[in-house]
Amino acid sequence: MTYINCEKYAQEILDEVKQVKHNKYFAIVSVGDNPASQSYIKGKIKDCEYCGIPYIHIHIDVKDDTEAKYKLEEKLYSLRMDDKISAIILQLPLPQGWNEQYYLSLIPSHKDVDGLTRDSKFLPCTPEGIVYVLKKELGNLEGKTALIIGRGELVGRPLFDMLLKENCTVTMAHSKTRNLESMLKSYDIIVVAVGRPNLVDLLKCDAQIVIDVGVNRVDGKLCGDCFNFDEETSKNMLITPVPKGIGLITRAMLMKHIAEINKKEET
Ligand code: NAP
Repeated sequence: MTYINCEKYAQEILDEVKQVKHNKYFAIVSVGDNPASQSYIKGKIKDCEYCGIPYIHIHIDVKDDTEAKYKLEEKLYSLRMDDKISAIILQLPLPQGWNEQYYLSLIPSHKDVDGLTRDSKFLPCTPEGIVYVLKKELGNLEGKTALIIGRGELVGRPLFDMLLKENCTVTMAHSKTRNLESMLKSYDIIVVAVGRPNLVDLLKCDAQIVIDVGVNRVDGKLCGDCFNFDEETSKNMLITPVPKGIGLITRAMLMKHIAEINKKEET
């Protein structure tokens, strides 16, 4: 088993983003006190600082739901109109029961660098990053068989379409799939995007490459959805680590999207 060097790939992307003159601001909007979100935002800010992207972080505390919702709407409207802001993200998840789709729809598609609105010109960062890594490692994906475990809106579903576009033969598994274990032997590519530690036993996989998207915390330590990282047994299998795996590529894709907009603004 060989770990894929996602740090190197992310760094290459960030170094290209750094070459762009970033005159406009990237706005990060967050709500509430989700600890995972706070750590993701820290990572995005670190990347902005590295790449020279000016940013603002608007955080909305939730003491009163109605008031916080009003504030979020108001902020998103003003960012929408502000010419100094070229890119906006709304950090998800929003507090439980809030209509994420509604608030996302307040981000104009030309500023939606997360690729989560219907008309955004960008693909969602995580599945786009997965395809990027797959192509870097395997080259042309045409004809490859791919198993995606997890049919979430942010990763599994968009990835399904993207791999089909690459002419892969794609299967999607989910919580009601039977005999998942027996399927692990039959695909060139396995992508695990579930959010459950110890779900996929790597010793039972017979793939060219396994992409572990899951982010879990067990006893305070970050881990993915896969287990049994055994260097001896699956000698030829490539695998993305957690941490420092797909999370870094996702962040780099976001910076790349911002750079694409700012490059246009420059000319
Ligand atoms: P999600 O929307 O909750 O989807 C999870 C999927 O897993 C669902 O389709 C669910 O099936 C399926 N599932 C649950 N238990 C299963 C089981 N035992 N066997 C097979 N499938 C099962 O989650 P998500 O937003 O796609 O995120 C998935 C994971 O990726 C999370 O850990 C998240 O933190 C991580 N993530 C990482 C990044 C990154 O940048 N590294 C980005 C995004 C997400 P049903 O549909 O049947 O319920």
